[in-house]
Amino acid sequence: MSKLKLDLIKNSISYFREAVAYAQRDELDETRWKFAIINVVQAMELAFKEKLRRIHPALIYSSVDERTDTVSLKKALNRLVDPGIGGLVIAEKDPRKIETAVKLRNELTHFECEHEHEHMEAKFADIFSFMIFFYREHLGLETEEFIDYDEHQRIIGLVKARAELRTRARSYIKAENFIDVWICPSCDESTFVAQNGECCFCHHKEAVIECASCGQETLESNVIDTSNYLDWDYDEGRMVLMEDYGMEMTACQGCIETFKSKVEDMRQAQYYEYMEREAMSYSR
Ligand SMILES: [Zn+2]
Ligand SMILES: [Zn+2]
Repeated sequence: MSKLKLDLIKNSISYFREAVAYAQRDELDETRWKFAIINVVQAMELAFKEKLRRIHPALIYSSVDERTDTVSLKKALNRLVDPGIGGLVIAEKDPRKIETAVKLRNELTHFECEHEHEHMEAKFADIFSFMIFFYREHLGLETEEFIDYDEHQRIIGLVKARAELRTRARSYIKAENFIDVWICPSCDESTFVAQNGECCFCHHKEAVIECASCGQETLESNVIDTSNYLDWDYDEGRMVLMEDYGMEMTACQGCIETFKSKVEDMRQAQYYEYMEREAMSYSR
């Protein structure tokens, strides 16, 4: 067990150091952010496992009964923040930021893909800051145990530059008096200007469309297919929509819960009506 303990934390730190080394590479080096992200996410995964191991060694496995595969990053985070297991308190935005970074890591590892430099830098800064906090607060490490002073200062400078950019984006929004400013799906900051269809911080562009269900404007990526909530039946080899309750086939993140409860209410009402009719036909 002591070997496992050593390996998890030691490996996490070596991936972290590797990430930091990549982040400091020349700006023109195209692999810079790609490998900085892959390494920092790996460091995070191992750090989460180490924290789980400290709570109980069986927790580093995906199934605590079988203990064959180790836990995925997402599951590890769920266990850590679960009040009954890790009880970890993290910032409200962190789970979302972690999820986006993991998604990006997977894309970078598995496909040839184009991501904007700013987007990758932003994701790195998010996880880098989070890891510094996690190593210190949750694994009880001293800063010098996982990063050298000079490197720390340099990356902090980079992260600070990002904070300044964010401040600038916010004051631009204020000065221009934009009304609809949303959370950007790319950088997770409240800097997406709806009327421009663009985030003024990370410059992510996306179409703004009208939600078919509630009529509110929303991002294309926020539109949800609602057909599964309606009543379908299998008829002569194909699925047929039996009842749409007068509802649309799409909704947005903002109205999906209302959509679901509306359908549920109408389904109930129809059922009661049916029961009443049945009761009447018996009493006749
Ligand atoms: Zn953005
Ligand atoms: Zn809607």
